[in-house]
Amino acid sequence: MFCPFCSAQETKVIDSRLVAEGQQVRRRRECLDCHERFTTFENAELVMPRVIKRDGSREPFNEDKLRAGLQRALEKRPVSTEKVEQCILSIKSQLRATGEREVSSQFLGNLIMNALKELDKVAYVRFASVYRSFEDIKEFGEEIAKLND
Ligand SMILES: [Zn+2]
Repeated sequence: MFCPFCSAQETKVIDSRLVAEGQQVRRRRECLDCHERFTTFENAELVMPRVIKRDGSREPFNEDKLRAGLQRALEKRPVSTEKVEQCILSIKSQLRATGEREVSSQFLGNLIMNALKELDKVAYVRFASVYRSFEDIKEFGEEIAKLND
């Protein structure tokens, strides 16, 4: 980047370290022209799409809410915390992979259901029964029937 003092284009990194528990890189740079030193911080830009709720309102994607929902579905089930965290990472990367700025809550719900289906069938049924509630009882009945196959 350009030197903020003299706008020279050539600056060199003289020190680079992780800060904020590895979420950020702090760099000390020196201008090759005026030899002033300055600091830059680099963050990964992880833009999550916003979630469009059923009533049309939008809310930011909330990882804590996702984790709480999964934990509720997985209560007393033999699934490790690590598996749950992997599941959250996977759902987040699928959300980002859409490249969309907004996704429907239904789309997010389906991602969660698919993930739970892999993780634990009982948790999947629990989640689906709450999530789908009165929406499509028939389809849900078919899903449960499939679990017995
Ligand atoms: Zn300079």
